Amino acid sequence: MRKIVIAGNWKMNKTVAESVKLAGEVVAAARDIKHVVVAIAPTHLALAKVAEVVKGSNVKLAAQDVHWENQGAFTGKVSADMLKEIGVEYVIIGHSEQRSYFGETDETVNKKVRKVLSLAMKPIVCIGETLTERKEGRLESVLTTQVNGAYAGLSADDALSTVIAYEPVWAIGTGVTASDDEAQEAHAFVRGLLAKLYGDSVAQSISIQYGGSMKPENAAGLLAQKDIDGGLIGGAALKADSFLGIIAPGEALSK
Ligand code: PEP
Repeated sequence: MRKIVIAGNWKMNKTVAESVKLAGEVVAAARDIKHVVVAIAPTHLALAKVAEVVKGSNVKLAAQDVHWENQGAFTGKVSADMLKEIGVEYVIIGHSEQRSYFGETDETVNKKVRKVLSLAMKPIVCIGETLTERKEGRLESVLTTQVNGAYAGLSADDALSTVIAYEPVWAIGTGVTASDDEAQEAHAFVRGLLAKLYGDSVAQSISIQYGGSMKPENAAGLLAQKDIDGGLIGGAALKADSFLGIIAPGEALSK
């Protein structure tokens, strides 16, 4: 039975002090959540302090990115060992902002995924099409290339330790959400891709999050879809009450 995984991607928001405060609020809000996996991804700068706040709680620590090399002359980057050392369990990889602003490719996504898995952390592999790609009828080919690229060379056991975030780029931070049906259709397609790579039983065990302007008002409808297993949340994760407003329907559906 796959889990509902709801992760807050704080992006480049919150100072360290603000991150510690918000993390404490999320820990308190999620105290009674037993079925949903809840994770928060502050900036790299705030990770170590937030690690202290979430320790012993049911909130997991996530990072927003990683480099695939162990160490060396990679100015501005952090390694997977550094993340592991402070208690990071999930790493967001291939976010559309990384792809569009910072040159992330399917190849670098694959390198990062392999490195994270080698240290027993879980990659959250982000995929999704732009509006132009959708309008031109290229949704399926884009998702196929991204999934095949990210999972290249991964065993079924590796794949079982991953989470996918399907995030239509046109819905991220725009306030426009994919309809329940549009999202379900894309998720089912992605699960089909995983089935082609690893068989149906593995594909049925991998959680596929939806991301793109998910909020308390639309969370229940999206999470009720057969192939939607959680959310990667940007804006609505920056306040504990709206984040909980997404987690709570997930918890109700998981009971
Ligand atoms: C995201 O950054 O992954 C995201 C989905 O952002 P938002 O919820 O703000 O659209």
